[in-house]
Amino acid sequence: MSAIDGLPPLREVIRQHGLAAKKSLGQNFLLDLNLTARIARIPGDLSDASVLEVGPGPGGLTRGLLAEGARHVLAIEKDARCLPALEEIAAAYPGRLQVIEGDALEIDPRDHLDPPIHVVANLPYNVGTELLIRWLSPSDWPPYWTSLTLMFQQEVAERIVAQPGTKAYGRLAVLAQWRSEARIALRLPPGAFTPPPKVSSAVVHLRPRPEPLAPADPDVMSHVVATAFNQRRKMLRSALKGLGGNVVSLLEGAGITPTERAEQVTIEGYAALAHAVAARSGA
Ligand code: SAM
Repeated sequence: MSAIDGLPPLREVIRQHGLAAKKSLGQNFLLDLNLTARIARIPGDLSDASVLEVGPGPGGLTRGLLAEGARHVLAIEKDARCLPALEEIAAAYPGRLQVIEGDALEIDPRDHLDPPIHVVANLPYNVGTELLIRWLSPSDWPPYWTSLTLMFQQEVAERIVAQPGTKAYGRLAVLAQWRSEARIALRLPPGAFTPPPKVSSAVVHLRPRPEPLAPADPDVMSHVVATAFNQRRKMLRSALKGLGGNVVSLLEGAGITPTERAEQVTIEGYAALAHAVAARSGA
């Protein structure tokens, strides 16, 4: 029996249910329930909140969230093999865990959860990045989620929290920090997972800012930032040619030196540029 919830240790759950990790689904499991409880505490008190957990696998993080008192957890898992193990957890926490078998990229959690909604996930990094970009992109702000607590490869986590003037600073940093506060909450070595991945991981915690750092249309902002970083080694006056018109006067109008490169521009600078582009096209 395990200490936190009376359910069997995760190693036994994996053995009983034949959950050998599948590489194709990016399965690296967390088996230490003290560690998963620690991750579950990152969003703060969840006793009055709903949690969307993406990719629960055998349920280590799910058990952490429930043991730490989350009011309600919706867990979306693509691998049908994990469902019986997750149903055992649901039975140990009556009425508090709902499990859906499916692809998180195709399910809208708002159909199943009452606010406030906190998102917690340990996902394959490509799915995690795709979902993060979607969670950061709505035209209405603040978004439906109150916080995001997401495991990434450490290198991706560093890109999310990167500051201007650094190599890691790019589209992900601007997108994440323009309308949210983002920080690395926990770093984990490969050995924290079974099987261990090749690289270290980190948990990133994001909270929406009530207002963006500077106002801009989200679609124009996204387009301008993608264009700038697409050719990050070029000076902006060349990198942004795709925006059309007089790029130099556009940049100067936004207070940006045209000979700078994409990684030198602050988030406020990009917002000013997006503002100038939108004003030019009469948007
Ligand atoms: N949360 C568990 C843990 O921490 O031990 C499992 C983490 S494992 C890195 C990623 C999990 O996400 C796997 O169980 C995998 O089957 C699941 N998964 C992968 N792609 C998914 C998708 N598109 N939608 C939902 N679950 C997915």
